[in-house]
Amino acid sequence: MILVTGGCGFIGSAFILQWLQSTDEPVVNLDLLTYAGHPGNLSALDGDARYSFHRGDIGDSALTARLLAQHKPRAVLNFAAETHVDRSISGPLAFAETNVMGTLRLLDAVLAYWKALQPADAAALRFLHVSTDEVYGSLGPDDAGFTEEHRYEPNSPYSASKAASDHFVRAYRHTYGLPTLTTNCSNNYGPRQFPEKLIPLVIHNAVLGKPLPIYGDGLQVRDWLHVEDHCRAIRAVLERGRPGETYNVGGRSERSNLAVVRAICDTLDAVRPMPGGRRHSELVTHVKDRPGHDRRYAIDDSKIAGELGWQPTIGFEQGIRQTVEWYLAHQQWVESVTSGAYRQWVDTHYNAQ
Ligand code: NAD
Repeated sequence: MILVTGGCGFIGSAFILQWLQSTDEPVVNLDLLTYAGHPGNLSALDGDARYSFHRGDIGDSALTARLLAQHKPRAVLNFAAETHVDRSISGPLAFAETNVMGTLRLLDAVLAYWKALQPADAAALRFLHVSTDEVYGSLGPDDAGFTEEHRYEPNSPYSASKAASDHFVRAYRHTYGLPTLTTNCSNNYGPRQFPEKLIPLVIHNAVLGKPLPIYGDGLQVRDWLHVEDHCRAIRAVLERGRPGETYNVGGRSERSNLAVVRAICDTLDAVRPMPGGRRHSELVTHVKDRPGHDRRYAIDDSKIAGELGWQPTIGFEQGIRQTVEWYLAHQQWVESVTSGAYRQWVDTHYNAQ
């Protein structure tokens, strides 16, 4: 049994689906169902006895203690977070609440649970914290990629909150001996990502013929990691990572934001041409840059590759094509997650239980 938090979000849902495709070990999912969480992401598991869902907050210590005592997981994987940098700029407090205090309260509940376990179970327990490469700050064009030793220099309220949570995880290892693992990964992409993030936003707007907003000159560089590759990396770290260690995970696919948008436009031109021979790239619109926007992130993945034998398998061009095709084939999903009707259903349905 494993306990996953934030399993109704983009990466958590991909992780649970991938996990249950390859093992029968049950999963308990604790998710608050914020605007970013969609139980429909896991509708393939409806009626599956290996999966159970609890709506709740990782910061609710009584609830997490109860779930741990009831399900006795051998691992807790913390995906739950506020994740959108733009939202962290307009409302940083929610990021401190969930990413810092929520993670800390979860750690504390897991520590109490771990201390009460029999020695063999305590030795086997893992707390895996999913974090971001944004904690390392920004790189220059010729700098080497982030290693695990790179100093923390978070620049946005989002990355500052994730950095703080990483430090608490580290402290729980060093102070109490809790068997923790941390992963710091680059930008994920793939199916079921909420259409506020760059790739699904651009696909969504392009399909509607709306402007494709690009911050500033669009030459900010990110490394792009397919979510399925990321989930395989998390699995490798969980099973074979050394407690107390952190592992950087990247897709070996550095691209400027502008190049990413052009790749989406080219794919759409090929699979769903615009009327009148127009090209989707004509919709690109440069808008005022995000304050404090980091210029470049890049990952040095030699630790996870060397120690755990993990490497990305999905190239960016293949991954982006699959992603565009997924969104085109799941317009109803996009409609449901962006409409108020869906939120209303979630609130009525899950509050009634
Ligand atoms: P997401 O925004 O799609 O999903 C977050 C999930 O957490 C949602 O289901 C939401 O309902 C849930 N949640 C939020 N607050 C909660 C709380 N207090 N208690 C319980 N559940 C709560 O996020 P994602 O993109 O799937 O990211 C998952 C993790 O990976 C996050 O920790 C994020 O920081 C990290 N990460 C993401 C990326 C990326 O590119 N998406 C990159 C690096 C790291």
